[in-house]
Amino acid sequence: MQSSELSSLSDVWDKEHLWHPYTSTISPLPTFKVESASGVRIKLVDGRELIDGMSSWWCVIHGYNNPHLNKAAHEQIDKMSHVMFGGLTHEPAIKLGKSLLQMAPPNMNNIFFADSGSVAIEVAMKMAVQAMISKTGNHSRTNFATIRSGYHGDTWNAMSVCDPVTGMHGAFGSSLPIRFFVPQPKSRFGEKWNPEDIKPLEKLLKEKSSEIAAIILEPIVQGAGGMWFYHPQYLREVKKLCDKYGLYLIFDEIATGFWRTGKKFAWEHAGVCPDIMCVGKGLTGGYLTLSAVLTTKEIADTISRGEAGVLMHGPTFMANPLACAIANKSLELLNEQPMEEIISKISSIMTEELEEARFFDNVSDVRVLGAIGVVETKKPVNLEKFQKHCIQRNIWVRPFGKNVYIMPPYIISEKDLLKLCREMIGILKNDLKESGI
Ligand SMILES: *Cc1c(COP(=O)(O)O)cnc(C)c1O
Repeated sequence: MQSSELSSLSDVWDKEHLWHPYTSTISPLPTFKVESASGVRIKLVDGRELIDGMSSWWCVIHGYNNPHLNKAAHEQIDKMSHVMFGGLTHEPAIKLGKSLLQMAPPNMNNIFFADSGSVAIEVAMKMAVQAMISKTGNHSRTNFATIRSGYHGDTWNAMSVCDPVTGMHGAFGSSLPIRFFVPQPKSRFGEKWNPEDIKPLEKLLKEKSSEIAAIILEPIVQGAGGMWFYHPQYLREVKKLCDKYGLYLIFDEIATGFWRTGKKFAWEHAGVCPDIMCVGKGLTGGYLTLSAVLTTKEIADTISRGEAGVLMHGPTFMANPLACAIANKSLELLNEQPMEEIISKISSIMTEELEEARFFDNVSDVRVLGAIGVVETKKPVNLEKFQKHCIQRNIWVRPFGKNVYIMPPYIISEKDLLKLCREMIGILKNDLKESGI
């Protein structure tokens, strides 16, 4: 493809005025203009169709332009798009709350609806701090511990618990709260547990637990911080330590929730119930931004007995009825389908198809869990080159760093999934085989 052909897919005004995620204004990477999207296909303005390997960052689980979700949206928009949640309530929120509690860990009782994943993390952290101060009367037991290579979102506190290096904490000087970090568990999912993995956290808590309100983690799958799948025993050990030292445990299921890892939620792989759990991304099937923070009655009531007497948060668009109505339909679609089978089919196809890459010179690891397939390269991938080849091969994959990964919509057909995997492997094998990947 000529570069002129590629540039016809970009937009000059966009390039000069619109910020895209993590983008330089001086040398922005190309963007490709989308006309529409349907099922697993993203259609560009020149008519070219790409098979989507990203689910638009974990969220479009039922595919684009899904007729069931469209219908739910239309029905709700004709009743009301929005109404404030302060002093008012509505059926879409009530129904969604009931469904979430049915799917959630059994100890969950109270739900806070928030606007995005990052805001859910802010709310979860505020819950933990308010509850801890209320429970102990100790105003300095307000910090957090987490593991390296995590990702929890881009707002201030969420960013503070992201990996300090890949999350570029240095760029914010002393403005960011300083958290406690321990190494990520190296024991891989599905392999042998190494008890050494929990030692750093044990040591940290022995020394610092009196300063810590909660431990926050992405259970089983670390997403944007490195696409790492770790051993469920780690979560069981973390839970034991939380009990021993009286800390709260927060699970960030924003990426892992709603079957992406092969279970409804990733905590189920370990059988460990958190005290606070965040969901987002796939919640509305990728239609609108909505997230939820779930917690126990004990934490909710402890907060309410505290100094403020209330949970100190209340966004304008809280429990937006349109988003809730679409989320209700999305959960209905999940609950009426044999999801375990669907995900396991996707998983076995990806396992078979990606295996070949293990033997490429430029690849260091291949791993698949649920509907997530990762090929880790030895050197960081040249994103601009990679995406050009994706467009040429009619697929949409957006690597970061050394992670070339796919997590397609669950509705993908076997034929499309095979094409997606084979074209992605083709790029690594043929188009980018030179070492400067
Ligand atoms: C995407 C993500 C977030 C942040 O969600 P936003 O909706 O982008 O704010 C938080 N945690 C995890 C694990 C995520 O993958």
